[in-house]
Amino acid sequence: MATERTFSIIKPDATRRNLTGAVTKMLEDAGLRVVASRRIHMTREQAEGFYAVHKERPFFNDLVSFMISGPVVVQVLEGENAVAKNREVMGATNPANAEEGTIRKTHAESIEANSVHGSDSAENAAIEIAYFFKPEEIVG
Ligand code: ADP
Ligand code: MG
Repeated sequence: MATERTFSIIKPDATRRNLTGAVTKMLEDAGLRVVASRRIHMTREQAEGFYAVHKERPFFNDLVSFMISGPVVVQVLEGENAVAKNREVMGATNPANAEEGTIRKTHAESIEANSVHGSDSAENAAIEIAYFFKPEEIVG
């Protein structure tokens, strides 16, 4: 498996509880390398654009409000099989269903405030990375 990149967000519930380092350590311990990272406070427009695929879902407005309720940390992660590896260490969307030892099982507050975002495919990873980072901001 070749080296791959994926996109991660440490969500407002985690930054609020000062868990940026704890979450990042779990990503690093899973074999992922942070090759770009920036703490931002997303605008509503930015969050709506990022989650546009979910705009017909009943939770869309709440999700956008949550994602702009505080700062987030946007990151590019690199490693072997990075997309799948990140999804594995994140755990299931609903922390009640997440495996022991995953970020969401350990830290998430709810199905919405679930501490991390991770791209679900290499194709979406490339789109999501480009949404937040210029190529020269990513240093592998
Ligand atoms: P994932 O983040 O695991 O890829 P989805 O892409 O399905 O999950 O959903 C995007 C985000 O929307 C979730 O991480 C979570 O914050 C929120 N979300 C998903 N399902 C629900 C739900 N049923 N109720 C409230 N928020 C939800
Ligand atoms: Mg998703």
